[in-house]
Amino acid sequence: MVPLRSRTYAACSGCSLCLLSCPVWRSTHDIRLTPHGRAKALQHGATANDLVESLDSCTLCGACEPACPESIDLVGMVTGLRGELAQQRGTKPSFDGMRPAPTGEISPPTMLIASQTLTENAALLQSIIQQLGGNVAIRVSSDSGTDISFALTEGLPIPEARIEHFLAPLKTTLRVIVADGRLFYALKNWLHGVTIASLGEALSALPKVREKLNDSDFYVIEPVAFHRDHERLISHYDSLRLASGCTMNLDLQRMAIPITASARHSGRVNADLQIRWMLEGRNPARIVVEDIADIAAFAHVTDTPVVHLANLL
Ligand code: SF4
Ligand code: SF4
Repeated sequence: MVPLRSRTYAACSGCSLCLLSCPVWRSTHDIRLTPHGRAKALQHGATANDLVESLDSCTLCGACEPACPESIDLVGMVTGLRGELAQQRGTKPSFDGMRPAPTGEISPPTMLIASQTLTENAALLQSIIQQLGGNVAIRVSSDSGTDISFALTEGLPIPEARIEHFLAPLKTTLRVIVADGRLFYALKNWLHGVTIASLGEALSALPKVREKLNDSDFYVIEPVAFHRDHERLISHYDSLRLASGCTMNLDLQRMAIPITASARHSGRVNADLQIRWMLEGRNPARIVVEDIADIAAFAHVTDTPVVHLANLL
């Protein structure tokens, strides 16, 4: 996969700017569990085995990457080292859909790759299909790529045949909308000639959804896709913020403050702390989230109503 940022830990100057946006740092104040800590340890000869706890703590939210002035591939650094550990341990990932790739089938103009959580929430999924579809045919892909997302998170190799199978029905569509931030980034690298949008981006681009947002809303961007396509998506969310007057989980440097409620490696992150940080000095009438997992996370901290973006209408 082509990394967005190609420099390695060797380029780390120790400036500590990555700490400002890292939810693990905010929760633990343990420098060993941050990009700074990992990069400096590697510069001094540490191996993946020395960094097991640190590697396990990272949620891959990506908030550190736009902050890093040295353009280091900080997410790739973690997944690469996780992959080394998995190889040493002999971890054998299992992949779905290893049948031959389907051929000859023409897909509708838009396909949605729903996450497992979304698939389990039939009412919300239906609402999303209705909003995104309008007069355009949309189909939910029968292959959610959950195993691929897992492998990307853990740095595990993915067989070419599995990738081909996953991509086959997507190659004949015009637009792919993807709920999983890790898959969003991978698809940008794997699938050319097809428009790829994150679910939050696709829903928030709809005029009928945008006009329902107002200046008393607090809008929560899903961070993984946002940080991996930061330069492009900043314009999208800036225009949404200016048009609606809503506030967002963006800090001064326009990194999206992550809750990471849906991340596999979120054990070291205090989600309540992250939410209090977001809401500090703010008193929204409504909280609008892109990630379904954030609904429960907010409900744990605040009585303010929380609604998924697809349910605004
Ligand atoms: S990806 Fe997120 S959790 Fe991991 S180091 Fe960067 S900011 Fe911290
Ligand atoms: S922001 Fe980049 S250069 Fe600065 S300490 Fe973090 S990883 Fe190193």
